[in-house]
Amino acid sequence: MAEKPEDINTDIPYCLYDSNLRRTYKRLRFFGKGGFAKCYEIMDVETDDVFAGKIVSKKLIIKHQQKEKTAQEITIHRDLDHPNIVKFHSYFEDVQNIYIVLELCKKRSLMELHKRRGCITEYECRYYIYQIVQGVKYLHDKHIIHRDLKLGNLFLDDMLHVKIGDFGLATLIAYEGERKKTMCGTPNYIAPEILNKQGHSFEVDIWSIGCVMYTLLVGQPPFETKSLRNTYSRIKKCEYRVPSYMRKPAADMVMAMLQPDPSCRPAIGQLLNYEFLKVSRVPTFLPISCLTMAPRIA
Ligand code: ADP
Repeated sequence: MAEKPEDINTDIPYCLYDSNLRRTYKRLRFFGKGGFAKCYEIMDVETDDVFAGKIVSKKLIIKHQQKEKTAQEITIHRDLDHPNIVKFHSYFEDVQNIYIVLELCKKRSLMELHKRRGCITEYECRYYIYQIVQGVKYLHDKHIIHRDLKLGNLFLDDMLHVKIGDFGLATLIAYEGERKKTMCGTPNYIAPEILNKQGHSFEVDIWSIGCVMYTLLVGQPPFETKSLRNTYSRIKKCEYRVPSYMRKPAADMVMAMLQPDPSCRPAIGQLLNYEFLKVSRVPTFLPISCLTMAPRIA
């Protein structure tokens, strides 16, 4: 198969061997690139099962002092098991790289969907947000904060099921009431309490879900400006506009999540009681055509 120019990387072999589990994977097509990782479709040569192989260069990890972050990502992600979380299958390493074997999300993420579709229907938004809430509820019940919920980390499998991925900024709340003071890395939908260095906890994920929901319904993020400085200033003032066409149940839910005081935001379980998720039955299925056009039912 012809490879894209960004795929040229001599450090990544075509056959990946996990000596612990004695499994060999064939590296197939290039899927995407993040801050430190490259992702390929990989196939177990014995079973023909396909996975996403997230490959992180050790050189890059050391250069950017990401050793602890990568270790934390693996430690947190490896034990998770939920239909709305990217399944972590295994990981192994060689001299050059760390290889993380993940559930393959062939339909990419809500970011590509958003780029293609712009705003989506309430019907679709209800479908996606419900699954995001289920996945995040599982995390919060396990005392884990994701801290970087954004369209690009909400992956989609073949059935358009949402799979939350990328635990690079995730953290564990060790005791009740703990407030995290620091974070190495900058979340996309950053909450005001992080910018104000007040200490933060689970509520930052609720803020991010608010930003995700707004972006899906309106077609652009709530605090976006041309410069990061202005965006941060708007976040601190909680300055955003709910368009008049947004219907009340959706607007109520977004506004509840996008509150400056974290203690006023609903906890993850409470989101399930909002009218937006109750007015009509949450769809359990969306046709694949929704990647390119609105469903007719909506
Ligand atoms: P980083 O931690 O460096 O930000 P990501 O986890 O965002 O890396 O992954 C980088 C890219 O790899 C993503 O943008 C996406 O294109 C792709 N990717 C990551 N995980 C999967 C997956 N499970 N299935 C399909 N593609 C994936």
